[in-house]
Amino acid sequence: MNKSKTLGLYIHVPYCKQKCHYCDFYSLANPQTAMEYAAHVAKTVADMAKRYPYLVDTVYFGGGTPTMMPKEGLGLILQAVRTHFAVTDDAEITCEINPGEGYPTSVEALADLGVNRLSVGLQSAVETELGVLGRKHTQNDVKVLLDRAKAAGIHNTSVDLMWGIPHQTVASALQSVDFAVSLNPTHISAYMLKIEEGTSFGKNPPPLPDEDTVCEIYETCCSALEQAGYPRYEISNFAKIGFESKHNCKYWNCENTVGIGPAAHSFVDGKRFYYPRDLQAFVQGCDPVDDGVGGDFIEYAMLQLRLARGLQQQDCMKKFGHPIPQELLTKAKPMIDHGLMTYDGNALCFTTKGNLVSNEILATIL
Ligand code: SF4
Repeated sequence: MNKSKTLGLYIHVPYCKQKCHYCDFYSLANPQTAMEYAAHVAKTVADMAKRYPYLVDTVYFGGGTPTMMPKEGLGLILQAVRTHFAVTDDAEITCEINPGEGYPTSVEALADLGVNRLSVGLQSAVETELGVLGRKHTQNDVKVLLDRAKAAGIHNTSVDLMWGIPHQTVASALQSVDFAVSLNPTHISAYMLKIEEGTSFGKNPPPLPDEDTVCEIYETCCSALEQAGYPRYEISNFAKIGFESKHNCKYWNCENTVGIGPAAHSFVDGKRFYYPRDLQAFVQGCDPVDDGVGGDFIEYAMLQLRLARGLQQQDCMKKFGHPIPQELLTKAKPMIDHGLMTYDGNALCFTTKGNLVSNEILATIL
């Protein structure tokens, strides 16, 4: 066992009750194969532990809807993780969970299995917005779920919001932020709605708020979250100090992560691989597809710039043996002059305004 290397494990659970109108994640409606799937994930966990005998400090069940899998299935997978890997005592074990009734695994069952962090999909506290997205829960379902989580001993909770929803206004987005804050989670994520091909929205594009409104939503809500005690630590992520997602930080820091399940991606020791979006093929034992090498300076810089602390001189020295290249700082200068980036001699960062056009800026400076 190589305990000098750590690893985050992502387990994909590819089942959902029904498809939300915007969702491009790989998931299917029929969970009948869930136990067979769990058994194959457990076997894959054992295989990965032989290949990468590292210390696991984060486990993340995502999907899909992990609670569509019976408790026994999730338990089988976690048991395989604990048997085949060394797992740190304080490992962050997150499970995504949907509010509402009718899921085979309850929040109490998750607590029982040792899950110590929940990521709850609220998206919006405005009923009409939830309806447009194809979400079936109410804001009260989220409150009930978080109360039950606390009663079961899970205090580390993240609430997901969505910005740029059809018909959303600055006022309605703020209403959702206020509701999320009133639940007192440790972490809040807020992703911009993107219309993806192949989704229901992709086939019938809904009317979206105009660009100016979306920018105002982002800036106003970022500042409301900041004032409520949730500083932004990544473009779309906000947390009370010390409650940043350890698992997701691994992706932004180019650290080792293994993803298990159809459509799950991995990055270990500089190599990338992924499983195809095909549940049947996964259960039949298909090998992951080689996706080349990764983690070079450009990729690292792009990911670090997503973080509020930005691309830092000492981190570049430590990881690559050189400071931030002067050429990059020169290209960033006009962005700094326009208030889209800052550089204090140590860290190059996006401003809140800069985050809104970060993809365009990254294409120019990197
Ligand atoms: S958003 Fe979540 S619940 Fe909705 S279809 Fe996608 S994975 Fe399933």
